[in-house]
Amino acid sequence: MNFLPGKRGRVAVIGAGPAGMAAAMSVHQAGHDVVLFERYPQARPAGNILNLWPAPIKALGLLGVDTEDLGAPCASEFRNAHGRRRVRVELPEHVVRDYGGGFIGLLRPDLYERLLAALPKDVLHVNHTVERVEQDESGVRLHLSDGRIHEADVVIGADGIDSLVRRTLWGESPKREHNLHIFGGYTFDESVAAEPGLCIVSHNRTVQGSWTAIRNKGRGGFQWWVLEAFDASREFTGDLHSSATALGEAFPHPLPQLIAATDPAYVQRWAIRDRKPLKQWSKGRATLVGDAAHPTSPYAAYGAGMATEDGYFIGRRLAGVDLSDYTQVRQALDAFETPRKPHTARQSQQAYVLGQVFHHAPRPLRPIRDAILDRTPLLQKVVGEATPGEIIKQLGEIDRAEARFAAVPGVGEADGTAS
Ligand SMILES: Cc1cc2nc3c(=O)[nH]c(=O)nc-3n(C[C@H](O)[C@H](O)[C@H](O)COP(=O)(O)OP(=O)(O)OC[C@H]3O[C@@H](n4cnc5c(N)ncnc54)[C@H](O)[C@@H]3O)c2cc1C
Repeated sequence: MNFLPGKRGRVAVIGAGPAGMAAAMSVHQAGHDVVLFERYPQARPAGNILNLWPAPIKALGLLGVDTEDLGAPCASEFRNAHGRRRVRVELPEHVVRDYGGGFIGLLRPDLYERLLAALPKDVLHVNHTVERVEQDESGVRLHLSDGRIHEADVVIGADGIDSLVRRTLWGESPKREHNLHIFGGYTFDESVAAEPGLCIVSHNRTVQGSWTAIRNKGRGGFQWWVLEAFDASREFTGDLHSSATALGEAFPHPLPQLIAATDPAYVQRWAIRDRKPLKQWSKGRATLVGDAAHPTSPYAAYGAGMATEDGYFIGRRLAGVDLSDYTQVRQALDAFETPRKPHTARQSQQAYVLGQVFHHAPRPLRPIRDAILDRTPLLQKVVGEATPGEIIKQLGEIDRAEARFAAVPGVGEADGTAS
């Protein structure tokens, strides 16, 4: 890879989730030295089930991640509990053709394996907890739990919903409890005759019951999730598989069958929470990406996707920037976050609202809500048209970022591979 010698800077990324790994790869491709700190002994996925939209898949490919047969391409629909369609999420044919379908069903560990395989050598430092971040106009100092201090020109906080970097920059902000919980699992049991190529999100009066095709290491299977209101102040003590079974029973084939076919060891549960979107992400020489910037409910099914996009865009914005120059750094960080904020805030806020509408509507209003959703195009407009619009916009943003990147002297010839 070629650099302009004077432009090479030092970037520290905190957190090896999708945001941090994508950021580290993109910053490396931009020609800077990058270090990725992860507190755990390995970069480990927090859960199994995952779907990705085409924009993050495109970003992953540009970062050098192997996206071949990464997941099962699915057309996604919202339905009522009787199987009647409320929404069809339709992406243009060329997008479906180019990126392997509208919504890609996969297992998170497979994505992590592929991200790790594409990370440049010696970038990832596991067992490194960052405890404190300090900065001034000349640089950034990260205090590690073993007492060492790491110096950098820029720090990228990819440290998730409980981000230390976010807290350091912008102070404490309360978690927003959605008072929902979700159970999810997956199976490769071929005896369940579910239709491939579909992601079905269904709702009855109080529960969401959903399933989607997946591919994992060349094998086809299905993942599912069920979601209901749950008081966040209570402790959950039930059995995961039997709780999921009870919730799934209200839904048509194949959801109950998929849950029944799932090994209880592959069932997980999460409480759903987020934080309100920030007005600004970056301060001084520090910025945020992924859940650190915009924690997002799984209702969006886009948190990891947006995290990946953030990581991709921050590296592209730092290409050709002299990181020793404070003014240039500020301009680059502002240029990074300005288009990202409305996109991510819209997704997180919509995910929050959908959770409230579907699971916290007062009982007398539920039949009215469902009649509106069944008989009007409201949900088609809010979800079925707005979501594809956002995805297409992000694909265009990536094309523009690539064009800018290719025009940066030196990095245009970068091969993007690990060094
Ligand atoms: C049930 C469920 C289903 C979901 N489904 C989808 C889906 O279908 N599609 C989708 O796109 N998104 C989905 N999401 C959302 C997605 O999982 C998150 O948005 C995504 O993981 C955020 O990635 P991230 O890299 O920003 O943060 P994280 O994945 O949280 O990674 C943060 C990393 O930072 C590390 N870290 C934290 N603090 C420190 C520190 N001080 N020092 C060093 N390391 C630190 C952590 O150990 C962790 O590895 C789902 C979420 C849930 C809960």
